[in-house]
Amino acid sequence: ATPKPGWNLDDSYARLPKIFFTHQSPAPVRSPELVILNKRLAASLGLDAEALQTREGEAALAGNHVPEGASPLAQAYAGHQFGYFNILGDGRALLLGEQLTPQGERFDIQLKGSGRTPYSRQGDGRAALGPMLREYIISEAMHALGIPTTRSLAVTATGQEIIRETHLPGAILTRVAASHIRVGTFQYAASQGTAEELKALADYTLHRHYPEAGAEPNRYLLLLQGAIQRQSELIAKWQLVGFIHGVMNTDNMTLSGETIDYGPCAFMDVYSLATVFSSIDRQGRYAYGNQPHMAVWNLARLAESLLPLLHEDEEQAVKLAEEALAGFSTTYQRYWLAGMRAKLGIFNEETGDEALIENLLKLMQQYEADYTNTFLALTFDRLEGTTLFETEEFADWKAQWQARLGQQQEGKEASHQLMRRSNPAVIPRNHRVEEALEAAESNEDYSVLERLLEVLSDPFAHTPEQAEYAAPQERSTRPYRTYC
Ligand code: AMP
Ligand code: MG
Ligand code: MG
Repeated sequence: ATPKPGWNLDDSYARLPKIFFTHQSPAPVRSPELVILNKRLAASLGLDAEALQTREGEAALAGNHVPEGASPLAQAYAGHQFGYFNILGDGRALLLGEQLTPQGERFDIQLKGSGRTPYSRQGDGRAALGPMLREYIISEAMHALGIPTTRSLAVTATGQEIIRETHLPGAILTRVAASHIRVGTFQYAASQGTAEELKALADYTLHRHYPEAGAEPNRYLLLLQGAIQRQSELIAKWQLVGFIHGVMNTDNMTLSGETIDYGPCAFMDVYSLATVFSSIDRQGRYAYGNQPHMAVWNLARLAESLLPLLHEDEEQAVKLAEEALAGFSTTYQRYWLAGMRAKLGIFNEETGDEALIENLLKLMQQYEADYTNTFLALTFDRLEGTTLFETEEFADWKAQWQARLGQQQEGKEASHQLMRRSNPAVIPRNHRVEEALEAAESNEDYSVLERLLEVLSDPFAHTPEQAEYAAPQERSTRPYRTYC
């Protein structure tokens, strides 16, 4: 018998008020070809990888065949894009449904690049192979780094070209997410909907992501506080690995606390707060060092949207929102400090720790040290070969750090182990990602990409092969640029 893919799709989102979505079928593509499939993720979703690789399985991932029980829809949302408010929606994506897993979990299955929707505006609803493979690589690398993120189940080439500056091969990404509810979804509800519709969205989000809030009267404040808490932890994790999202618009920030929308994102090589990769971020709004500030800005937009639910008296509502927002920097700083201590092998808290950390970062910025590899060098005591390590300032810093470690009960070996599991051996280096995409796009050679994915899949293993992938790109005159 032919294996069954195992789709078990619910559509709870379609039970929200009608303003939040539009039913829409994916537009069929010419000749679907599954080019990469995440077998481990498939299994955890209760899907049969063998069956997904058959003609019928592939057809579902391309949108040519809608699995039984699914009623695809495009979600409506709004968003501040680079500070400017727009009414948006899924312009090139469809929610196929919510996969109910054997473990009783619920995950959105979204097809990205599946054709035009009522929210497409001038766009063609399609996506190019390169960027979809890029999202696959980086989202899976983020997951392996222990950072909450949407996942990538598959990339399916469409056999159709899309027109950008040049003609490019088209593809569809199958994205898996705790949900696709965004800060912008609440902005949409608040600006376009009735009080009842806003409440329906808030209750749905609470039920799906914050069940611990229950049905208490102050549950909407708990929702806001919960979102602030999750985002503060998420952004701290980004900062700790040097991840730069690149387009932190409010429609690209989730209520689940997962990283979403891998467009112009990239990992920082040389440590600098001003690092920007995105070609369209000319003002540096979403620069590395600005990410925590932008997160608060976005969460303030969420708080504004929730005001009518926080308190019947507007002044009281504003006060509650402001108090909640003030909590961001406290929790962010706590997560970030805890993460930095671990990266330096420090177990307990002392008042001088923050200065110790900041002094190292200052030196890294001043001497243009590679962020990831500086921490690796500290972990494995390979303190040579870069300008930073040859300076007297670094020698002084190292003496202070060693003294700090010397005061701990746990001992040297325990510190080393803590550092090993807190400092990744590899990040998706920009030139390695490009090399993998180039082989796939130009030669249909997926072996480079497969090998990169393998190396990135366990970043704390510290294998010799990973050491090969640790080197940053040679400094060239042309800075690395990313595009949406
Ligand atoms: P992003 O910058 O990726 O967050 O996208 C912003 C909005 O533009 C989203 O609502 C997308 O669905 C939409 N969009 C992006 N590319 C396309 C496209 N090719 N066709 C239609 N809509 C698009
Ligand atoms: Mg987006
Ligand atoms: Mg995008």
